[in-house]
Amino acid sequence: MDQKKIAELLQFDRDHIWHPYTSIDHPLPVFFVESAEGVRIRLSDGRQLIDGMASWWSVIHGYNNPHLTLTLQEQAGRLSHVMFGGLTHGPAIELAQLLIGLVPAGLNRVFFCDSGSVAVEVAMKMAIQHAFARGLSGKNRFLTIRSGYHGDTFHAMAVCDPEGGMHRIYQGILPRYFFAEMPRCRFTDEWDEADIHSFESLLATHHRSICAVILEPIVQGAGGMRFYHPEYLKKVRRLCDEYQVLLIADEIATGFGRSGRMFGCDHAGISPDILCLGKALTGGYMTLAAVLATEEIGHVISQGEPGVFMHGPTFMANPLACSVAIRSIQLLLDGDWKNNITRIEEGLRQGLEPCRNLPGVSDVRVLGAIGVVELDRPVVMARIQNLFVENGVWIRPFGRLVYVMPPYIINDADLRTLTAALCRVVALEVSV
Ligand code: PMP
Repeated sequence: MDQKKIAELLQFDRDHIWHPYTSIDHPLPVFFVESAEGVRIRLSDGRQLIDGMASWWSVIHGYNNPHLTLTLQEQAGRLSHVMFGGLTHGPAIELAQLLIGLVPAGLNRVFFCDSGSVAVEVAMKMAIQHAFARGLSGKNRFLTIRSGYHGDTFHAMAVCDPEGGMHRIYQGILPRYFFAEMPRCRFTDEWDEADIHSFESLLATHHRSICAVILEPIVQGAGGMRFYHPEYLKKVRRLCDEYQVLLIADEIATGFGRSGRMFGCDHAGISPDILCLGKALTGGYMTLAAVLATEEIGHVISQGEPGVFMHGPTFMANPLACSVAIRSIQLLLDGDWKNNITRIEEGLRQGLEPCRNLPGVSDVRVLGAIGVVELDRPVVMARIQNLFVENGVWIRPFGRLVYVMPPYIINDADLRTLTAALCRVVALEVSV
């Protein structure tokens, strides 16, 4: 495409299109992507960027993966979409079979929906309907932990960290839920029993009004990119059982190997009562989410008023999305995913280590294929974003966090280039 045409399109974009978390009056620049292949994003001016973001955790097998593209093309030739009310199809059934076999034990009722945030809404509605059906209609509140993030729709917002999230401007509109202190014990620390006290005392005091706990297992993503101790999650499971409160695991970011185990819950060897999946489910090809619940939850909901689960999105179990999800999971399982994530983890550890001694860097941490460099002040987005692009990488920080979670197919040389560019740019950013 010629550069004059690109400039016109970018101007239209700037004049008419919202981008995520962006001002209309003072938008940050956006870069025009022409195509993407493997771990490389190609811009319209010919520059190629090594991708460190996997498009927000989703593109695990790289862009334009030949297997996924072919699957999608073939499925489009058979059945792109059909309503799921009263009808079913092979891709939905096969994907449900695969997921039930893959997730922590005991989850065998699958609800497909459109996006991560909607999955969180669905999971929370399930918990409320479950309590309602048991005649406990006052048991309709949620307990979560600070520094969490669960999406941008209303109930999802209500369980995001009250400081980092959107609570302030939505005060009076968002329901008010319970927030335990964020876990302080890190993944590799020695476990400190005091870490669970805030959670335990809130649950002990309020369990009669709490239908479920919702949290991100082990990795807190957009709320702070923190990795907490598996013992915390084990204790949460035990306490939920003790107080008869459901546990919802939001594995939308952590699912499908990202943290070094197939699911975050696997680090603690626990099963939630409800599990939310999204993002990498389709290898980042399109939007699809799944909520898995226990048999018991399904039956209880169906025996109470109104006798059905009240949710049914138009694009529920979209066949294109389901078929590409099946292929994506097969690719993951056919490969040596665990050793591969260990390889990336090692590469991130070595590659990000030089940041640790920079003034202005307060922490460097890595878990699985996630690497985080935390600064002592927020980055200047417009400046740092340009620096990354000039250095040939795509990394999009937020606040004080510069982080990467590259596609799993990244090779060692590209990983070294990615981490070296990150360190170079962080050094420049903190020196200003
Ligand atoms: N939960 C978690 C843990 C997430 O990381 C996200 C997305 N960043 C969501 C929920 C919301 O997913 P979506 O953006 O697909 O609505």
